[in-house]
Amino acid sequence: MAAFISSTKTPQTMICISLPQLPFLPIRSPKPTIPFYIHSSLTHNSSNANNNNKISTNPHKKPKPPMNNPSRNPRKKPSYGTSRRSAIKKSFSQEQVVFTGPVSNDPVVGIIGGGMSGLACALYLEKRGIKSTVFDTGLRGLGGRMGTRKIHPEGLIFDHAAQFFTVTDPKFAEMVDDWSKKGLVRQWQGTIGELEAGGQFAPLPTSPPRYIGVNGMRPLADSILSQTSVVDVVRPCWVSTLEPYNGKWYLSEKGERCGQFDAIVIAHNGKCANKLLASSGLPLIARQMKRLDLSSIWALLAAFEDPLPVPSFESAFPFEGAFVKGIDSLSWMANNTKKLVSSQNSGPECWTFFSTAMFAKQNKVPQESIPAATAEKVTKAMLEGVENALGLQKSSIKKPFYSRVQLWGAALPTNSPGIPCIFDPQGRAGICGDWLLGSSLEAAALSGMALANHIADYFQSGGTCPDEFAVGLHNEFHPLQGHDIGQFPGLASQGQLDELASFSLPCSCPRGSLRRQTETFELLIAVAELCELSYLYDTLQDVVTE
Ligand SMILES: Cc1cc2nc3c(=O)[nH]c(=O)nc-3n(C[C@H](O)[C@H](O)[C@H](O)COP(=O)(O)OP(=O)(O)OC[C@H]3O[C@@H](n4cnc5c(N)ncnc54)[C@H](O)[C@@H]3O)c2cc1C
Repeated sequence: MAAFISSTKTPQTMICISLPQLPFLPIRSPKPTIPFYIHSSLTHNSSNANNNNKISTNPHKKPKPPMNNPSRNPRKKPSYGTSRRSAIKKSFSQEQVVFTGPVSNDPVVGIIGGGMSGLACALYLEKRGIKSTVFDTGLRGLGGRMGTRKIHPEGLIFDHAAQFFTVTDPKFAEMVDDWSKKGLVRQWQGTIGELEAGGQFAPLPTSPPRYIGVNGMRPLADSILSQTSVVDVVRPCWVSTLEPYNGKWYLSEKGERCGQFDAIVIAHNGKCANKLLASSGLPLIARQMKRLDLSSIWALLAAFEDPLPVPSFESAFPFEGAFVKGIDSLSWMANNTKKLVSSQNSGPECWTFFSTAMFAKQNKVPQESIPAATAEKVTKAMLEGVENALGLQKSSIKKPFYSRVQLWGAALPTNSPGIPCIFDPQGRAGICGDWLLGSSLEAAALSGMALANHIADYFQSGGTCPDEFAVGLHNEFHPLQGHDIGQFPGLASQGQLDELASFSLPCSCPRGSLRRQTETFELLIAVAELCELSYLYDTLQDVVTE
């Protein structure tokens, strides 16, 4: 039988409360002094499995199990405040949950978030023989920021977040290979490049290969778990409460219980994750999550009757995707029709436009209820940005026959701890997501895989030496480099490559000298920075500093 220990008026609580004053000190959660808080028989006597072994300051008072029906206490306030400020305050003052009992022989993991990272985590847990349930809010499908929108009956299609990706890691390459065999991905052969205001276009090199979902990104997400046998998916489901009880985590959606688990994975971020963690009993995890900064991005999906007059470059075809430079309201534009449907040069075209992060910050509204006036203003500004980028006169583009704006309020991470995953073995809870390693689909996948393997190793150990499995709970964050819509490891413009070539390896000092080594490291750092390999960048920086 597993037990968890929690107390509200104890010396331990005071240490936990002191966390915000010492945010960078590696404070370990206090070891439970079992006899003080709990009658020891409760911890180990399996005959008590159904007893309430939740600790309270009054040992004779039996705590209640997590509520299943919110109407039982309708006037009770939710356990977390609704404002960000309230959420932050709560998460710093909460006490640490400590699971002390042995890990179950047949553990089940609850994964909250069915984006790339949560799905990769479930897949890799399955590879290690561990059951999991993925909860996701998606109404139309899994995938989170791998969204594809299809509009019927017009047959319009838009990738409305992730556009394409590059591959550098062998484990991610394996996943992409699998998609490729199933006919779900292919290389994007169309021209992509950088577009300066006024219509000046420079293509990016065709290497490394750029990949896209054949029918958009969402089907890739839907396929990840298609051949698994010990993964459940619950969707749409908005997990709103995490409660530790009797050695398990209980998850619920608006008071309705949705399962009990031996460990939990938070595979999402932003305001929702901060709220969820604010009163969960995981202060270290909550603190790391709160250090994360996220940008916002406006997406404009627009379908035009006639093709947009897109510039080409020398012998290249007119571009299909472009990183836009020098325009406030625009950072990316892509022709979904060319990318996903056909290469014909006439007929309607579906375009995805993304704003810059700065523009989104200046025009931020609640993403769930965008005021009509804001939608109109943003659409107008972004379409003007398109005209400006293409070097066209104002109002020369015909009004799209379909358009829709969406705000990605928590679009992309702007800082990262640069570690594949976070795991709190005391609380049997972990975090995965793109932001742990970067801001790309590859980063998200690698993070999910890493956390799955870490949890599997922890379970395999029986949970007897928890301290050995604590990871990422105190790492500092570093700013992330990249485009407004994320990182594309390996992809650099010709200008960046030229800049790189202008570095020359020093040859005047003796081989192996400190100076030569430092200069070589500096060159490698420049390469890592240009190619947005943030983990390599940080590691090399650390080596040089040392
Ligand atoms: C505009 C934009 C453009 C991008 N372009 C690219 C690109 O071209 N190439 C690239 O590689 N990357 C791109 N990215 C980044 C890429 O999409 C992300 O890095 C990646 O999808 C993140 O995956 P994730 O699993 O970490 O998070 P997410 O995809 O955000 O998944 C989290 C999931 O958790 C769910 N969730 C949240 N709260 C709860 C809850 N309480 N209960 C249940 N479920 C919950 C969410 O609904 C979501 O489905 C882009 C991102 C944006 C916003």
